[in-house]
Amino acid sequence: MENNSKITPPVFVTRPSMPPYEEYIEEIKQIWDAHWLTNFGSIHNKFKEQLKDFLKADNISLFTNGHMALYSAIVSLGLKGEIITTPYTFASTTHAIVQAGCTPVFCDINPDTFTIDTEKIEALITNKTCAILPVHVYGVVCDIEKINRIANKYNLKIIYDAAHAFGVTYKGKGIGMYGDCSMFSFHATKAFNSIEGGALSFADSRLGKKFKEFKNFGLIDGENINEFGTNAKMNEFQAAMGVCNLRHINEVIAKRRLLSEIYRNALKDIPGVKLLPIQENVQTNYAYFPVIFDTAAGCPTDRDTVKAELEKNNIFARRYFYPITADFPCYKEYRKRNDTPVARDISSKVLSLPLYADLATEDAERICEIIKNLV
Ligand SMILES: *Cc1c(COP(=O)(O)O)cnc(C)c1O
Repeated sequence: MENNSKITPPVFVTRPSMPPYEEYIEEIKQIWDAHWLTNFGSIHNKFKEQLKDFLKADNISLFTNGHMALYSAIVSLGLKGEIITTPYTFASTTHAIVQAGCTPVFCDINPDTFTIDTEKIEALITNKTCAILPVHVYGVVCDIEKINRIANKYNLKIIYDAAHAFGVTYKGKGIGMYGDCSMFSFHATKAFNSIEGGALSFADSRLGKKFKEFKNFGLIDGENINEFGTNAKMNEFQAAMGVCNLRHINEVIAKRRLLSEIYRNALKDIPGVKLLPIQENVQTNYAYFPVIFDTAAGCPTDRDTVKAELEKNNIFARRYFYPITADFPCYKEYRKRNDTPVARDISSKVLSLPLYADLATEDAERICEIIKNLV
């Protein structure tokens, strides 16, 4: 017998937003005219200015990707020692800390917001602690005021992993205006992309020069180097994609919002199903739609059953984030020092549903039907 569902094209968890082809071609024409491919070209500079406006940020530095931006921030801020962070994130967050020669200290998360549990930070502070690196995971805003109070009290730096929080505002200010520094990712899979790409938003404008040198091998001019550096520059093709996608970002976010509302309305009243919090004072970006299927709280089905059932229908949701970074074998030494049971528990129950601007509302509705049939 023919399985009808296999005829429908597959639905993946995400699909990059792309501008109309002609728009991109028009934008990159000037690269041929200028014969300038990378190293702070004119499209790079234009993109940077446009981002400052859109992100409501005072200072922006562009990078080849979000990961190198985060790594560059840790090194350029001169951080050494222990950095308190969460393992409920993408591998990049923990990798960047280790790559910069620092020690990740895993703090557990709040079970309702999935962000760092600020009640548990102080107990982890030692005389080696230099910074807190929280994640605005799924675009959910961390408890910024409490994190500020702790950082002030112990004289710690704050670097936010804001990879998911492009365009999010808190109390009317761009999310990148909080803490010493925030990292945004423009990877193809993110709500906004420049193919690959990333940026740092930062409070102290003097850091701009440091970031610029660090991402260009430490070069302070054509030939002189004082400090260690790397190569993490954004090229002109990336910047051109960023400029084009930025023109459409408001439509993209509006479409994501519509889809998120379809999901939320269909799933919000199922027992044992937990959705992202709706936060006061936050303008969100609808970057992800994670669902927690908690059988212990009365959910009639578990995460992996839902995932398998969706797959039978050619729909590929993702266990995002699973496993937690603390459970990677390479980080077992850090995990031994203190465990994060809440993060591990959420990670075992979470499924991120497909969400991208061109996802058909019928597909979102179909996904809700499949889930509802299971519960
Ligand atoms: C995507 C992501 C990164 C890394 O960004 P890239 O641009 O892919 O290097 C870092 N942290 C989190 C939470 C992410 O989701």
